[in-house]
Amino acid sequence: MMTYSMSPKVKQRLAQPQRLLIDGQWSLASDGRVSEVFNPSSGEVIATAAKASASDTERAVAAARRSFDAGNWARLTPAQRGKILWRIGDLLEQYGDEMAELEMLDAGKPFSGTRHGEIPFAADCFRYYAGWCTKIEGATKQLSTVPDQDFHIYTRREPIGVAALIVPWNGPLVQAAWKIAPALAAGCSCVVKPATQTPLSTVCLAELMLEAGVPAGVINILLGSGSSIGQLLAEHPSVDKVSFTGSTEVGKRIIDAAKGNLKKVSLELGGKSPMIIYEDANLDEAIDGAARAIFSHAGQVCVAGSRLYVHESIYERVVQGVADIASRMTVGPATEPGFDMGPLISKGHLNSVFQKVEAGRAEGARVAAGGQLINKSGGYFMQPTVLADTDHSMSVVNEEIFGPVLVVMPFKTMEEVVAMANDSQYGLAASIWTQDISKAHKTAAAIKAGILWINCHAIPDMAVPFGGYKQSGWGRENGYEALLQYTELKSVIAKL
Ligand code: NAP
Ligand code: MG
Repeated sequence: MMTYSMSPKVKQRLAQPQRLLIDGQWSLASDGRVSEVFNPSSGEVIATAAKASASDTERAVAAARRSFDAGNWARLTPAQRGKILWRIGDLLEQYGDEMAELEMLDAGKPFSGTRHGEIPFAADCFRYYAGWCTKIEGATKQLSTVPDQDFHIYTRREPIGVAALIVPWNGPLVQAAWKIAPALAAGCSCVVKPATQTPLSTVCLAELMLEAGVPAGVINILLGSGSSIGQLLAEHPSVDKVSFTGSTEVGKRIIDAAKGNLKKVSLELGGKSPMIIYEDANLDEAIDGAARAIFSHAGQVCVAGSRLYVHESIYERVVQGVADIASRMTVGPATEPGFDMGPLISKGHLNSVFQKVEAGRAEGARVAAGGQLINKSGGYFMQPTVLADTDHSMSVVNEEIFGPVLVVMPFKTMEEVVAMANDSQYGLAASIWTQDISKAHKTAAAIKAGILWINCHAIPDMAVPFGGYKQSGWGRENGYEALLQYTELKSVIAKL
């Protein structure tokens, strides 16, 4: 077993408290408060981070407001903005080793998967939106209401203003990039608040943004508590837009907080995403795909395939297949290579996941694999868990667990499985496994979810809109659709 030792660059970075970025200046919190940052693979404190106060929040919003109103960013040419966004992507690649090490330490993501997956993906997110900067367009219109007169009518897409971007801990870098890149492409000024648990990569990203040429005040970083400063951002009268990813519960609080000035809100919330395996599926691929869909990043993924519906004729075989994979998986610190699954984010979250599994057991679910905590190196580990013979009266089927826990149920017909898949407060994602293209597309049309995969699961792409039906959210991330959510549309009617 290799023992991880911190690179000198990261060691140096973590020796100081992580700081706030306000109006181009790095600082500690005005009242000097800090919070601890844990490595979920070891339970050790690896850093401290400034805990922004209400007055820090006021200063950050004011800086964003000033920079926006002065046009420091929006008045650059679209090509100039695009070049800076592209440069952020290049810098992310250049600093990829350091970034991946920070995500590994902070979020418990294994190094190699992050270095070759999430880092280039975040870089491509900035490049994707770099391309959109020069392609934000209005339209010309024709008037019918006033005959015999000439008019020139057009629409303009304008940046919405100051955007508060509130990010969760499960994909700290990528989820920050998904918000910051379209907001900057549209010409907004931003205040970014990462999750308390995972500030490290956001701070590093902000340094790279300044290096790339994003002007002071256009990007501000507030570290600290969601229930205090996150809430203040969502309420703030000088904030025009809030984009939030996290729990449905907090999403609803954001809507309430946003009411004061009716700021625009987009929400990417939780899910309980169904996977449907029909009897004619390629079973090896479907079983392997289902296991990946729930166990990658220990199930702490908003689109995790957490409900599995299997045609009754192949039910036992699939349960056994997924349970076999789960039982063979190795679980251990993200800081050591070779494990199939890393830790959960915190001790509190680990306990919550375990309690939910216990509730499922008490409700009568059959534990086909896992179900236990793993005591290893002080980290927050749980066995990959498969709960079979579950039904829709059970909390494990209805509640988002956000851990490595799969519930499995049999079905007979397409009508029945569509009804079961749609019997959820959530509607984020789903996957369908079959060789029959008619069945695949009919099912895809019938499922109420924002993103459907056929014979695969959780493949993201910057060009593909991503977001939820029902209580999985408002609006979409990625694609041109996300960019539009950082703009206002103005119509101009001129009598000639
Ligand atoms: P959460 O409370 O919704 O946190 C997400 C972000 O919102 C964090 O930055 C958090 O800050 C901030 N926040 C918390 N309360 C806020 C408020 N009143 N106003 C504004 N911002 C606020 O999520 P969590 O507690 O970390 O996780 C709880 C559950 O949410 C998970 O078990 C999972 O079910 C779900 N979740 C979903 C996603 C997703 O990708 N859709 C991501 C993460 C979690 P702090 O870090 O300071 O609390
Ligand atoms: Mg929370």
